Amino acid sequence: MGKRWFGLLAAGLLVAGVLVPAAPAMAAPTFKVPFPCGQSWSGQTRTNHSPAYSLDFNRTDDLGDPVVASAPGTVDRVTDLGGTSYGKYVRINHGGGYSTYYAHLNGFNVSVGQSVGYGKVIGWVGSTGGSTGPHLHYEQRLNGADIQVRFNGALALYWGTKNYSSDNGCGSSGGAGTVDTSGTPLTVRSGPGTGYSAVGTVADGARVTIQCQTSGTSVTGTYGTSTIWDRIGSGRFISDAYVYTGHDGYIPGVPRC
Ligand SMILES: [Zn+2]
Repeated sequence: MGKRWFGLLAAGLLVAGVLVPAAPAMAAPTFKVPFPCGQSWSGQTRTNHSPAYSLDFNRTDDLGDPVVASAPGTVDRVTDLGGTSYGKYVRINHGGGYSTYYAHLNGFNVSVGQSVGYGKVIGWVGSTGGSTGPHLHYEQRLNGADIQVRFNGALALYWGTKNYSSDNGCGSSGGAGTVDTSGTPLTVRSGPGTGYSAVGTVADGARVTIQCQTSGTSVTGTYGTSTIWDRIGSGRFISDAYVYTGHDGYIPGVPRC
């Protein structure tokens, strides 16, 4: 939440995500799992996939889940092929000949020419194009040819299915905020609502890193009434109504949990 008398002053202190321009003839970018920090997804490779080294991601009830940029770059394709092939897909150019593809999306959250960083939500998992059920079809390419997928330099499983957990955007591309309760410690909950169990407290005035945000029970706090909850760790949520973030509502660039 944001608007109070010192809002402009504090907003000036917020640090925007910094993009490093891609340079040609560089080593491969450090690609990360294309989902928000902390999430775990089942990724499958198979020999009859097209192209061969593509990875299909799934998790329970994944329709509409946010998909994030694998690495910094520039969006150079936001295309809807209709009921065939990739359907709705995004391509990101990472420089040095490297690009990534995100296909069968439900919708887009970026446009061509946009610079993106780690953790940036580019669209949502869907089942568009030649897809028989919701999943993310993901590719890494070098000079147009598909290459075996690597996350943080580690080769994906070829061939088979394994779980990949995301550290994408866990650091600087997350949001930051300051807890303001006017005195009492703020209760940390195991989920996004007052009905979840208390798992700790955060002191008034504490600085917190917000990994992602989601909707939960409505709380009235220092910054008004809000249904937004901020995840500040694994299984740790606080009401955004008590957190100064410089923004009313969701923080731009911070993923939904
Ligand atoms: Zn696929």
